Amino acid sequence: MSEQKSLGLHWFRRDLRIAGNQALQWNWKKHNGCVLGIFCFDSIFLSRSDFSHHRFALFLKTLAALQNDLRATGGDLLVVDALPEEALPRVIQALRANYDVQTITWNRDYEPFARSRDQKCEALLQDLNLEIKTFRDHLILEPHEIYKTQPGDFYQVYSPFARKWFDHYHSDDIQKRLSAQKAGLQFLEKASAEPLFCLQWKDLQNVNLPYVDQLQTFVQKNNQSVTIPIPESGSREAFAQLQAFKEKMAVYKTQRDIPSQKGTSRLSVFLKNGSLTTSQIITYLGLHQKNEKTEDGPTRYLKELIWREFYYHILYHRPEVEKKAFLTKYENLNWENNQTWFQRWCEGTTGFPIVDAGMRELNTTGWMHNRVRMIVASFLCKDLLIDWRWGENYFMKMLLDGDMAPNNGGWQWAASTGCDPQPYFRIFNPWLQSAKFDPQAEYIKRYIPELRDCSPAEIHNEAGRESCAYPRPMVDHKIQKIKALALYKS
Ligand code: FAD
Repeated sequence: MSEQKSLGLHWFRRDLRIAGNQALQWNWKKHNGCVLGIFCFDSIFLSRSDFSHHRFALFLKTLAALQNDLRATGGDLLVVDALPEEALPRVIQALRANYDVQTITWNRDYEPFARSRDQKCEALLQDLNLEIKTFRDHLILEPHEIYKTQPGDFYQVYSPFARKWFDHYHSDDIQKRLSAQKAGLQFLEKASAEPLFCLQWKDLQNVNLPYVDQLQTFVQKNNQSVTIPIPESGSREAFAQLQAFKEKMAVYKTQRDIPSQKGTSRLSVFLKNGSLTTSQIITYLGLHQKNEKTEDGPTRYLKELIWREFYYHILYHRPEVEKKAFLTKYENLNWENNQTWFQRWCEGTTGFPIVDAGMRELNTTGWMHNRVRMIVASFLCKDLLIDWRWGENYFMKMLLDGDMAPNNGGWQWAASTGCDPQPYFRIFNPWLQSAKFDPQAEYIKRYIPELRDCSPAEIHNEAGRESCAYPRPMVDHKIQKIKALALYKS
């Protein structure tokens, strides 16, 4: 009997790239380039209350870019319409009819749903005598790697977390890992693709595959519900945006809070689906030597990436924050939850220009500037007295970068219910916020045409717009602030 050809399987999830993909690379080395990629679409996502057709469209576009990249380099990706716990064993059994399949790889994920799915899959695949190799990917430090003094004793406040993070960051291990990203970045810098892989799904011999590729079917079905332009996607686009940001990084510290400017990296959408990772960003931008005491733009940027890691740690150690307040004393606040008010907030017709501009930016582009996310979130909870979970859910439905850990962290921060939150008595004044961060009302006018002929002074003043065809402020901020303080105290 002739010896069976050996191949590896890589399960793509939120690591949609070739360059710097640790698990894929390990598998590729072990099988001399004979690795097949698979993505299993779990239709449970379609029925989630925070499902977003727009984010799904972007995700599918990223999958298509990955499929193209893999095919251009001799590899492949199969997108199946089945739960991974069903699809993976069936595909492996089918492959084993004619191939030696001993190994599957994937990169680790930390969301509660993903962790329990992965545990289930591990158990099923072990029953097939498969070697399962999982890797760190989208975090520099995984939640089990950073504790105060002993395992279980996790950080609940950002600053000491960041201090400890920097201690680990300068270790040889992490610096070596970051340097290892250079090869992947060089791959992205080259415009042309070279052969890397040696096998495609269509080339398999004597295998009766139980699935056919469903990527285009998903795209066609989902496109019917897409109402905003979906931006370019994939790791090459992500890299191009990273290159563009490098030019602006020095001014990040001064520009990052100005919503009318493109002062931030806009890389969150790529981090969400793994077409780019934090370690690639850090290596490309040369942030290795930064420490917590440096005060420049690049360090400030690195600290934002650490916020992202921090929120992942919180979600990992306290998975119940997905539904509940981190600070249990604020779990049962007596929110007013007025449906009509919520609708006006969603539509961007509250009569508070900075809030409405933000919501209209979100509704028409799928993105919102961080400063404005903080303002609209604070406004929903502390001016309209609406449960932060309503806003969190709406954001997830609309954001192209919607990501459970930072979204939940951001909302609980704004609502003062989270770890290391804004104290409840610090309530953003939307009028002062807009005057400070959008002094010429450039951002506001971009999204609210009704205000184009008003002066900045009129726009930043609640009494200043008698003649405008734009709603009067729906509430009085001073009165709502008193009510909010009473709500939290009670
Ligand atoms: P940059 O300023 O260029 O920052 C670089 C990266 O650092 C970002 O891409 C992001 O990964 C990370 N980062 C920056 N700010 C934060 C922050 N405050 N918390 C955690 N990570 C941060 N971010 C998401 O990725 N997905 C979300 O669903 C999300 N929801 C949010 C909801 C609220 C209420 C708030 C206040 C913030 C939310 N954020 C979320 C964080 C932040 O607003 C976005 O990451 C940022 O605006 C993305 O733009 P950027 O890539 O240009 O950011």
